[in-house]
Amino acid sequence: MSSAENYDDLDFDPVLLRQKYKEEREKRLREDGNEQYIEVKGDFSRYVDDPYVERTDREPVADEVEVVIIGGGFGGLLAAARLREAGVEDIRVIEKGGDFGGTWYWNRYPGAQCDIEAYVYLPLLEELNYIPKEKYSFAPEILAHSAAIGRHYNLYDNALFQTQVTEMRWDEGDERWIIATDRGDQIRARFVSMANGPLDRPKLPGIPGIANFQGHTFHTSRWDYGYTGGSSEGGLSGLKDKRVAIIGTGATAVQCVPHVGETAQQLYVFQRTPSGVDVRGNSPTDPDWAANLEPGWQKARMENFNSLVSGVPQEVDLVDDGWTDLIGKMLEMLRNGASEDGNGRTLPEIMELANFEKMNEIRARVDELVDKPDAAEALKPYYQMFCKRPCFHDDYLPTFNRPNVELVDTDGRGVERITEKGLVVNGQEYEVDCIIFGTGFEVGTEYTRRAGYQIIGRDGVKLSDKWATGMRTVHGMQSRGFPNCFLMSAQQGGFSANYPHLLNEAAVHIAHIVGYARENAIGTVEVTQQAEDDWVDTIINATGPMMQIGGEGCTPGYYNNEGKPNPVAKYSAFYSGGSIQFWDLLSSWRKDGKFKGVEFDGQELAQTE
Ligand code: NDP
Repeated sequence: MSSAENYDDLDFDPVLLRQKYKEEREKRLREDGNEQYIEVKGDFSRYVDDPYVERTDREPVADEVEVVIIGGGFGGLLAAARLREAGVEDIRVIEKGGDFGGTWYWNRYPGAQCDIEAYVYLPLLEELNYIPKEKYSFAPEILAHSAAIGRHYNLYDNALFQTQVTEMRWDEGDERWIIATDRGDQIRARFVSMANGPLDRPKLPGIPGIANFQGHTFHTSRWDYGYTGGSSEGGLSGLKDKRVAIIGTGATAVQCVPHVGETAQQLYVFQRTPSGVDVRGNSPTDPDWAANLEPGWQKARMENFNSLVSGVPQEVDLVDDGWTDLIGKMLEMLRNGASEDGNGRTLPEIMELANFEKMNEIRARVDELVDKPDAAEALKPYYQMFCKRPCFHDDYLPTFNRPNVELVDTDGRGVERITEKGLVVNGQEYEVDCIIFGTGFEVGTEYTRRAGYQIIGRDGVKLSDKWATGMRTVHGMQSRGFPNCFLMSAQQGGFSANYPHLLNEAAVHIAHIVGYARENAIGTVEVTQQAEDDWVDTIINATGPMMQIGGEGCTPGYYNNEGKPNPVAKYSAFYSGGSIQFWDLLSSWRKDGKFKGVEFDGQELAQTE
């Protein structure tokens, strides 16, 4: 778009906004990209210690099970549930934490809450006959639900908690995986499902001097209630006489800052890039609504939500919240824009304008809620929606009106230095008693580094070596050379904002393949080279999805490899047709019964048309 006259119909100036977004992005680009973060190991390994459960000693286990599932979060629980339904009895979940729950086991920070409506986010609600108490559940309820799933599917007896897998190695001789752990276990398994989770390994910022600080520190995913007092519901009485720093203003900080601000003597929130924070609007579950739900309601609701957030209009918006509103509004603007095509705008231009308008609303909300003008200005996000994860909260922004809370905006540069006593920004030192790192989780580092174990397939080939030049799978779930092994991840699959929905679809698919192999006494299940090559081509040669997350023009963050072009990133892309098309594709593949692209004991089934 070249001439300003094109925008006479708008009440904002897209040229100025475009320029501002560019400046904000450029300010934040850094040479070290993803390397700026410190891996949590060696001197920093205490940051991943489990603060919730005492470590118990046990004898090493040496036995054989039919299926090992690595990870007891939603992915592992869903895989186990669907495998049980497919008749598999002998399942063992191996989990680092002390219980089921995954991200909800670790993330117990005050205010932790699901961001997607609980009725579509919590898995297996109908199977367990459970209705969440509120539209957006808080962490303790989600953790309890995870345990309930474990009990319902009888997964506790065979599970190994507080156990980190260190290696899984394919034994060609008797077609088993041998899984080694940090407890000295040697477990043989016919099938393995890897449900490690996408945001599992906390990361620390490589701020100069980070190791020098003499006060207390912890990462939000290992909240230290021993120090702060209180619970996930707040009441952090231990902070009454403490000066606290929180580094980071992502989705986690947005939820915990109000609680820390409520009790700390002084809270400094160190911001590099503000999040966009829209309305939350939580409410208790209406018992009449719950009592009248028809069988199949959860699947229907999940599909309704996923359609709306994928841009497929629906007759009704069952969830009707910030997510569906946000995408719905953008689509409406698109439709309105498109109908005025007398102004000669192309679809990408109309989309950009719709995005500007939504972000204008988000910025206007900051002015409505934050009294201090400097803080309000600094809290406004200047980037496209979906460059960063959208946040929803009603108390985060007003927290900055409190006299004991100060936003320390670093103008995109991050904290300059950490000293023995505090943090330095713009040459000013802020002395604190405690630093809380809300700095997120590793993304974009090697799969096996994040998983924490080596995966060694046929002929001693490591998955990390095979994928050194880019991920290679069929449907994001199976990789040649790694028989009887299934991954659960969004990469090379269809992405949904409702991650458990995606995990459920993967679980159904995996259970289908494993179920068939068992019924037919098949030894190995492995994708063909052709199927893998074809799928990788489909992923890397796709044209961009309609609503991209973290595009190249975005401010840096984990959505776009910290703003640095990454030659192998395109291999980890989502299926460009979106989750609905992807799941339809999987479902048709299962229905036709030909298992195209999969070898059973080295042979594909006959592929008649
Ligand atoms: P994020 O990676 O989203 O945020 C990390 C924060 O740390 C960013 O604000 C980042 O700034 C900041 N940061 C990093 N380095 C520095 C530095 N040197 N100086 C100052 N600031 C720094 O992590 P979160 O834990 O907040 O969230 C991770 C993901 O977990 C979310 O995106 C979401 O997917 C999920 N989540 C979901 C929730 C839910 O469903 N309810 C709740 C919480 C999290 P910058 O942006 O500039 O990089």
